Amino acid sequence: MTGIDAAFVRRWVDALGASIEEQRDHLTQLDSAIGDADHGTNMQRGFTAVRERLSSADASAPGALLTLVGTTLISKVGGASGPLYGTCFRNLGKALGDAPEADARALLEGLRAGLAGIQKLGRAEPGDKTIVDAFVPALDALQGALDDGASLPDALGAARAAAEDGARATIPLEARKGRASYLGERSAGHQDPGATSTALMFAALERAASTS
Ligand code: ADP
Ligand code: MG
Repeated sequence: MTGIDAAFVRRWVDALGASIEEQRDHLTQLDSAIGDADHGTNMQRGFTAVRERLSSADASAPGALLTLVGTTLISKVGGASGPLYGTCFRNLGKALGDAPEADARALLEGLRAGLAGIQKLGRAEPGDKTIVDAFVPALDALQGALDDGASLPDALGAARAAAEDGARATIPLEARKGRASYLGERSAGHQDPGATSTALMFAALERAASTS
């Protein structure tokens, strides 16, 4: 099984940074329908800073690198998504601790701690049309696949597919948290930008596990 080490974290961040760059206009377009048209630029600003920060970081523990990702996102992204994703990565990093390598179960538990941080800060539940709507099904799928004995790349593939389905399932929902909630029922009919970037996060995780 692929171990989750510092190189894995760097592959994850590189893949995520690249896909955010590629999808920046799409994320911003989604946010222009139900928000203030800055989700793509917020995420890109954050991950450009994260990639710069990691390029000069010599930490060898995956947990330390992930904590750095979170701290950088919190300090560089002004929108709601910065503190939410930042807290998520910091909690994940803290959960992995100082170990040089983590296994799939530790990653799952760390991601659960990350989601708990997002929910503690943002108070969103599934169905509120937020990041949580992609995150929760992704972790359920990851857990189910690991319980069935799937390899890490396959389990992360299942998580990515569930996150994408979760993001698409936000289309008919009315937003109950964040800026989009100001629109009330007019927020229905549009895919949530944050749930969409969460699906990118899981797609990048799958890629990190499938390459070396
Ligand atoms: P802002 O809303 O401040 O402009 P962004 O545009 O970067 O920030 O991010 C918007 C996304 O943040 C939304 O699409 C939603 O998924 C997510 N979001 C907003 N509020 C919350 C919350 N309370 N809990 C979880 N996710 C949230
Ligand atoms: Mg916005």
